[in-house]
Parts: sequence; C-alpha cells; structure tokens
Amino acid sequence: LRMIRFDAVTKQFPDGTTAVDDLSLTAPTGRITVLVGPSGCGKTTSLRMVNRMIEPTRGTITLDGQDTARMDEAELRRGIGYVIQHAGLFPHRTVLDNIGTVPRLLGWDRKRTRERSRELLERVGLAPELADRYPSQLSGGQQQRVGVARALAADPPVMLMDEPFSAVDPVVREQLQDEFLRLQGELGKTILFVTHDIDEAIKLGDQVAVLRVGGRLAQLAEPAYLLAHPADDFVADFVGRDRGYRALQFQEAPRLPLRSEPTIVLGERPGGRDAAWLLVVDDDRRPLGWVEPARVGDREVTEGDLHRGGTVAREHGSLRGALDAALSSPSRRGVVV
Ligand code: ADP
Ligand code: MG
Repeated sequence: LRMIRFDAVTKQFPDGTTAVDDLSLTAPTGRITVLVGPSGCGKTTSLRMVNRMIEPTRGTITLDGQDTARMDEAELRRGIGYVIQHAGLFPHRTVLDNIGTVPRLLGWDRKRTRERSRELLERVGLAPELADRYPSQLSGGQQQRVGVARALAADPPVMLMDEPFSAVDPVVREQLQDEFLRLQGELGKTILFVTHDIDEAIKLGDQVAVLRVGGRLAQLAEPAYLLAHPADDFVADFVGRDRGYRALQFQEAPRLPLRSEPTIVLGERPGGRDAAWLLVVDDDRRPLGWVEPARVGDREVTEGDLHRGGTVAREHGSLRGALDAALSSPSRRGVVV
C-alpha cells in the first residue's frame, strides 16, 4: 500500500461547513506531497480522511487502487503512520511506551516492541537516556522527534504528517526538517505532509498542493514550478506574502545567451536566508533547482549541486555576472540587473 489517490473527494460537516471541495490528487510512491494553505483550508480534514478518522461525503480515496472505505481497520493501522499536530504524545506514558503504541496495538510481544522502540529512538536522533522520561520532561523539538518515531514504529509505507514541526522555534524546526529529509532519503515512504508554512512546503515537497479556504485545490506542482508559475493571484499572494516578496513571472524574463550549459538565473533560496542562491533552468526554461554560488565557480553545475526550490529575481547576462553581482550585493541576495 503506497500510492495515495484522492478522487473528487468532498467533505461537508453536518453544520454545513465544506472543509474539502472536490479534491483530486495523487501522492506518488516514495515521494513527499505537501498540502499547504491558510488555516481552515481543509488540510487536517484531508489527512484524516486517508486513515478514515473522517469519512468523505463524496468521492473516494484509494491506496494503491484499494478503496480505503473497504479496507479493514488493522490493515489501515499497519499501513499508515500518523504524526499529529503538536506531537500529541500520551502524557502519562514514557517516551519508549509512546513509541511502542502501534506495535502494542498490533499485538507485538513486549521484547520486540521495546527493541523496535529503542532502535527508533536512535533513528530520530534521541539519546537512549530519554527512553524513560515523560513527554513533559522533553523539549518541543524532542517531543516532535518522539512523534515521528511513534509514527514510524510499525514501519508503515505511508506517513501522514500534520504540521509536525510547526510548534518549535525556527532553528530547531530547520534541524528537524533537515533530519526528516535525510531519514526520508533512507526510508522512501509515501508521505502526505501538511503545513501552513509555504517555506516549509517548498523545502520539503517533491510536489506541493496549494489549497484555498473552502477546501479547493488551487495548484499542484513541483516547488520551483509553483514559485515560477503561480496559477492565479491567490497562489502568487500566498507564495509571496509569507516569503516577504513576490515571485516574478518566470516566463516574462528574456532569454539568456547561455545555451549549451545549464542556464543560471539569480534567485533567492526559499526561507530568505541571508545568502545568494542561483536558480538553474533547462532549455525550456523550467526550473531545475537552486545552487549555492560557492559550489558553482567556473565548473559546470551537476545534479549533485542542485537543491530543490528557489525563485527568480531577474536574469543576468552571464553566469559570471550573476555570481559577481550576487556576491557583492550587501544583502547577498535578490540582485537585479
Ligand atoms: P486546516 O487543518 O487546514 O486548518 P481543517 O481541516 O481543520 O483545516 O478544517 C477545515 C474547515 O472545516 C474549517 O472551517 C473547520 O472549522 C471545519 N471543521 C473541521 N472539523 C470540523 C467538524 N468536526 N465540524 C464542523 N466543521 C469542522
Ligand atoms: Mg490543521
């Protein structure tokens, strides 16, 4: 059970609120699909419909073609890990017992459950000494790690993650995001990740679904494409507002003379960190990703140099010019010629 598919899914609550409206999307196997949008746009409701905590009013959700409405409870529990908002740990259970929740429900014996829980503690970067603490004795970041470990315990192929890193401070959040990406690189789960933070969506998503209040899908695209080609004003504002600047329309920029090598245009890395980043596009001007200027130098950019995400400021006539301008700008970013 890996690929998740929403097919014309609508959720209307009894009080008449439409939380999700005719949502169709596919979360491909082994990739991170991010649902992003303002508060109340139906992100949590969408997740909860996947593991059947909420039943859709209309439409179907399938896991590898199997209708979730017809799957049995144990199969869903085994197949789907769920990281809830604010970690949601059981306060009266130790860290190790929290991690072992699902294995216990699945009837694993004590020894196997404890061994698996200890292994996961290490996997998510927590010291073994924390095993017997209670959630209140952990920092916010540590609690989130326990939440991730708990969701991973039965090794489910699918993970639902509801704002798992939103409650921690920005420095820890960035650390958790980096560790999460590294872990996902090893595990290759099919992940549906919810956040209201566009920077987080851009950083983590292989694809990003932007939802608007009322639960309608505004755009589904790869991060760099989303930034360069927002489908409408809502997406452009959402992408721009939280980022503190507005992405320029990519297609309006003039063609560069550089043709035989990857074209590099000056951009800004998602998150607006204090550094210059260069966006790399292919011959059809589709963004490929961004690179750090320090890694470019005089050599050709390789796949290994590319990160995902990035947005366009304005193009430069040459790579050298872009680099020089980027590096000499006082803010070291967003340079325009
Ligand atoms: P998000 O996670 O994007 O902030 P939610 O999925 O929690 O949004 O909620 C989407 C909309 O559905 C909101 O307007 C919310 O108030 C409403 N909603 C959520 N749960 C219920 C419920 N049980 N009954 C009625 N309305 C609900
Ligand atoms: Mg929510």
